[in-house]
Amino acid sequence: MQIHHLNTGTMCPIGKHLVNGTGSLFQRARMVCHCLLVATNDGIALVDTGTGLDDIANPLRMGRKWVRQTTPRLDPAETAVQQVKALGYSPNDVRHLLLTHLDRDHAGGIPDFPKAKVHVHRKEYEMAVTHQIAPPKGRYIPEQWKHGPDWAFYGEGGEDWFGFKGVRALGDREPDILMIPLPGHTLGHCGIAVRANDKWLLHAGDSYFFHGQLQKKPRMPLVLGLFQRRADMDRAARTQNQERLRALKATHGHAVTIFNSHDPVDYENCRCGGH
Ligand SMILES: [Zn+2]
Repeated sequence: MQIHHLNTGTMCPIGKHLVNGTGSLFQRARMVCHCLLVATNDGIALVDTGTGLDDIANPLRMGRKWVRQTTPRLDPAETAVQQVKALGYSPNDVRHLLLTHLDRDHAGGIPDFPKAKVHVHRKEYEMAVTHQIAPPKGRYIPEQWKHGPDWAFYGEGGEDWFGFKGVRALGDREPDILMIPLPGHTLGHCGIAVRANDKWLLHAGDSYFFHGQLQKKPRMPLVLGLFQRRADMDRAARTQNQERLRALKATHGHAVTIFNSHDPVDYENCRCGGH
């Protein structure tokens, strides 16, 4: 399966040392929105969508405080839709959007692909879209799906994937893409596993924020850790899933490349490693 790693939204908060774990306090940090473009048996699929054109046209819809804290670059050339075009595809070729969750920095590109089916965990939909489960105030940006996309839902269960449970997102037509519940950051948060030839990729979304959290001796820059804690809807569940991912990396790191959404180190490793 042909796979491209895209950064669909750079963020530059202050205090590089306390966010990226390197550099000085006075430099700006770099965070990415790591997305995948996958050529599947059923058209092009994107894993997460990052920042969209409507967000860039009206950044304040993402929240004044959020924009101030994360300082997004807001470059239209970074959007998924512009990168899809740059790779020679039409936005209409994108049939599926597989979302780890519906936070603003993951769902912003949904309206740029109005014909695509949007795949999410049912709980995420019930919290972000229908409010059957009450979301934390201001957490989601309903404008990002106000055009009424065609949704597809996932629950628990599914087949065994290295000790995790996963459901095939595109049915039997494409057995090599699985939605894997990894709740904690949000209640319906999922990882998405994609097989790339002989190896699997696991896009672990925001189930951890920093590559050092999966190392034998976990480490985490101070401010990024605070940011992560504040965003956790179920901290115990997220911590437990982070431990499971750390164990998976230790035992099956040769067969599975795990990466998260915002870590520039994970992102560059994937791009340079050719995974
Ligand atoms: Zn995020």
